[in-house]
Amino acid sequence: MDRAYLEIIFLCGFVLQVVLRSYYVQYYVTEKHPRYFNKKERLFLLFIFVGFQLLPILYVFSDWFAFFDYNLPKWLGFPATMLYGFGIWLFFRAHADLGKYWSPGLEIKLDHQLITTGVFHWVRHPMYAAFVAIAIAQVFMLQNWIVGPAFLILAIPFYLHRVQREERQLIRYFGDAYRVYMEETNALFPKKEQIDFLLIFGKLKFSAKNKG
Ligand code: SAH
Repeated sequence: MDRAYLEIIFLCGFVLQVVLRSYYVQYYVTEKHPRYFNKKERLFLLFIFVGFQLLPILYVFSDWFAFFDYNLPKWLGFPATMLYGFGIWLFFRAHADLGKYWSPGLEIKLDHQLITTGVFHWVRHPMYAAFVAIAIAQVFMLQNWIVGPAFLILAIPFYLHRVQREERQLIRYFGDAYRVYMEETNALFPKKEQIDFLLIFGKLKFSAKNKG
């Protein structure tokens, strides 16, 4: 796939992601808990903005970074686009399932309920998993040594820090319910048993279809 097409697809996904987020921001009715959104986190959010938004936009609309371009085999564009599409879908599903409990910082809302259904049935942090998929896809879609890996590199420290803090807070609030949820699911990638179940279920469906 031509690098120009990949850049256009990346841009479309980017716009879609911004539109989706703007829709869910309306649920972000907050009583402002500044201690859940500390200075370090603000810095990490700035890194994400630079790696996933600012640099890609500057890259697509200017030739400032052209000197650092690389060229990958064209066929790689297809799996990268699939991964990107999956990332955007997962991002959307995670927002839909978390609904009004989503927030950019770490907050426990009034009557906060523990969500363990939808994509939260498969992993504890589907939104972050979506970002990982998007960040990996970015390496293959924006073929530039500075812009391609920027999101992946800048976001890693954020997630390492964030997941720990977020889970500590959720355990404090939900107690054993969250501990059980942690035993049943992985943070970013489904458990082996869950994948096996999916494969067996898929096979059963396939054989039932063939018989019928
Ligand atoms: N880490 C999640 C959600 C990110 S939004 C994901 O990657 O999809 C951050 C907010 O979601 C935090 O304020 C946290 O309290 C809330 N949250 C995280 N997991 C939750 C869950 N399973 N149920 C309800 N709220 C959750």
